[in-house]
Amino acid sequence: MSDWCLHYEGYDPRHEGLREALCTLGNGYFATRGAAPNALADGVHYPGTYLAGGYNRLTSEIAGHEVENEDLVNIPNWLPLVTRIEDGPWLRPDEVEYLDYQQELDMKAGLLCRSLRLRDPDGRTTRWKERRLVSMDDPHLAALEVRLTPENWSGRMTVRSALDGSVINVGVARYRDLNNRHLETLENVQTEEDTILLRSRMVQCRREIVEASRTRLYQAGEPLLVERQLERLPDFVAQDIAFDVEEGQEITVEKIVALYTSQDSAISEPGLAALKQLSRAGSCHSLFEAHRRAWAHLWEECGVEIETKVQSAVGMKLRLHVFQILQTVSTHSIELDVGVPPRGWHGEAYRGHIMWDELFIFPYLNLRKPLLTRELLRYRYRRLGEARQAAREAGYHGALFPWQSGSSGREESQRLHLNPLSGRWVPDNSHRQRHINAAIAFNIWQYYEVSEDREFLYDYGAELMLEIARFWASVASYDEAAGRYAIRGVMGPDEFHTAYPGKDPSEEGGLDNNAYTNSLVSWSLTRTLDVLDLLPDTRRRELCDKIGLSDEELDNWDDISRNLIVPFHGDGVISQFEGYEDLQEFDWEGYRKKYGQIQRLDRILEKEGTDSNHYKISKQADVLMLFFLFSTEELEEIFERLGYDLHPRNDLQDHSLLHAAHLSWLDPELGHARLGAGAGRSATLLAAPLPSAGQRLRRPTGGHHAGRDSSRRHGQHRRSNPTLLHGHRTARQRADLQPATSGRTDPAQDHGTLPRSDPRPRGYPRKSLRIEPAFYRASDHDRLSRPRARDQPGAALRVPAHSR
Ligand code: BGC
Repeated sequence: MSDWCLHYEGYDPRHEGLREALCTLGNGYFATRGAAPNALADGVHYPGTYLAGGYNRLTSEIAGHEVENEDLVNIPNWLPLVTRIEDGPWLRPDEVEYLDYQQELDMKAGLLCRSLRLRDPDGRTTRWKERRLVSMDDPHLAALEVRLTPENWSGRMTVRSALDGSVINVGVARYRDLNNRHLETLENVQTEEDTILLRSRMVQCRREIVEASRTRLYQAGEPLLVERQLERLPDFVAQDIAFDVEEGQEITVEKIVALYTSQDSAISEPGLAALKQLSRAGSCHSLFEAHRRAWAHLWEECGVEIETKVQSAVGMKLRLHVFQILQTVSTHSIELDVGVPPRGWHGEAYRGHIMWDELFIFPYLNLRKPLLTRELLRYRYRRLGEARQAAREAGYHGALFPWQSGSSGREESQRLHLNPLSGRWVPDNSHRQRHINAAIAFNIWQYYEVSEDREFLYDYGAELMLEIARFWASVASYDEAAGRYAIRGVMGPDEFHTAYPGKDPSEEGGLDNNAYTNSLVSWSLTRTLDVLDLLPDTRRRELCDKIGLSDEELDNWDDISRNLIVPFHGDGVISQFEGYEDLQEFDWEGYRKKYGQIQRLDRILEKEGTDSNHYKISKQADVLMLFFLFSTEELEEIFERLGYDLHPRNDLQDHSLLHAAHLSWLDPELGHARLGAGAGRSATLLAAPLPSAGQRLRRPTGGHHAGRDSSRRHGQHRRSNPTLLHGHRTARQRADLQPATSGRTDPAQDHGTLPRSDPRPRGYPRKSLRIEPAFYRASDHDRLSRPRARDQPGAALRVPAHSR
């Protein structure tokens, strides 16, 4: 198997759904699943096409309630290309016999290829060789090329080339009973001899979508003599193209499609734009060439190479992940006002909503295409108003971003969830995952650290972080007994725990002091104070004035960041949340025996009439997530600030979690990323030179104040730390930086040559981006001392070279 290809032999209807998802082609503007062009949506095939951020809302009745959901809409299917011989039936995948079936996703060229022979019920065999693209060169174009050869027959063949607007959203079995008709057809016409057009509209948000397709047939490079007939049905338009063919003669069918919507920029209206673009599109050959070139450049910029000591598919799998990210967000996404959905624009799971998963994707984009992260973070900035309103409505201050976000930034998490095992609709409380707000702050800071993009911080990032910090400060309450701050009633990333046993998750839901949330909140309050220090005086004053931020509030943030509760078990291991230790042990063996697959224990237990809240089980091990996000040094810093003494444990080496993905790190000295892949396997990931990570910024001592006095203090700090403040600045920032009292300019600024405190060459991150094993305990919660030397057995533990 080539590292560049995902290759399938044979056709297996049982796996077609997964294959279609993995073979999706996209360009950051739209995506089309890898369904066969002659397939209809049935139990096996699901030919879905989705616009990046193409949401629409519908109301359904669920368990006696009216519920509105916002979905990623399955837009008209542009793929349909089906054949028939003489007056026979249209040859659909499961009504013919497939011979020699091969399918290949060519990630290098961004193509999906299928090569097969199909035998109809009368024994006539036809060779079908297909390749398709969703253009990475021109985001509005797609192409499908099929070469057909009758192997043992001659006669009349008809090709039906269609645009199908009758599609509905039925990609996720559990949602099938919900209202799923998002589209209405406005126009289905033929506009040229070889061109048809379908105009649809999303029924609630009124976004128009136009697809126009041009189908041409060739034999030996020459246009073929054909007879065309227009077929129009409600929500459907097609051309039936008939021609004579001889045994052994190859016929090439080229279908080129243009797609525009009423939200596109630089157009008059989508119909005109689609027809214009189609008329300008060259041959299929030229589209394939331009697309191949675009992917070559993309891989040059974004590729990762992996060397393994043993033969394995790890390189191909890594590439497949990168390929799917690049198909989900690209430079074509920049104007679109979108985030990154967890499953790409590849299907209807999670309704295409934007969740916290960006946390795992941005680190890659930051190093390869920081411009994309910038734009994706601006998706959040545009929804800051909505988040402010959500905080107010929930009785808090600042900004409360939703767990699931779609078009407007309101909370899109469903309130009722169908357990397919029990058939019951049960309350869904996942919106209590407030940690999404900390993830956004984390993403902003990470982006800034890697890119040193002060303009972003100035214009958007600082305001977002301040409002998120303010939210956290209003959520935290002082617990007299603990002498610390508590954050109550939230869920961590582990969705198996929504409330304490016996409590109603909807009315009295959430948990207290989730370790992941509280640690991240401490970190984000600290970084937000750093951000204030980074801003030029006028911008800081402007922002503080705009949102009414006072010195007292900043001191309060500082206090909370040092005094949040992190719960520990009796033996000193960080607990997932307060009270986790008191939950019931779980009968792992019994449930494995009974159910085999026990991944969705929440559903299994609900079906049994009990509740995952009772048990020590985790869907996502929250505490480990801390070690995914932070290096050891950073965690030590967080815990030290919180007044906890943290040191490694060495008695958990047999724990299965030691083999998880957290044994990975980037070695800045070598410029290599290494992946420790668990027992006995290791691999080295060769990365292209990485952009410099921003300098680690520490707060100057002396508190955080927004008023005039503190401005003076910040000003002094700036002058004595030129590297912190004399980076890439806007003219506006430069003006702001003129020292108010002396009127003199900074010499370094004058010459544009900025001193850098770190002598290492650009091209290496300045801090280790390392993830390490997660077993630490606190020996004495409130005693501060340096951690002991690490002696973790069985785990690759590295100290970054520059701190050795
Ligand atoms: C996980 C969430 C995640 C979502 C989308 C859920 O199953 O629990 O943490 O955001 O999937 O990937």
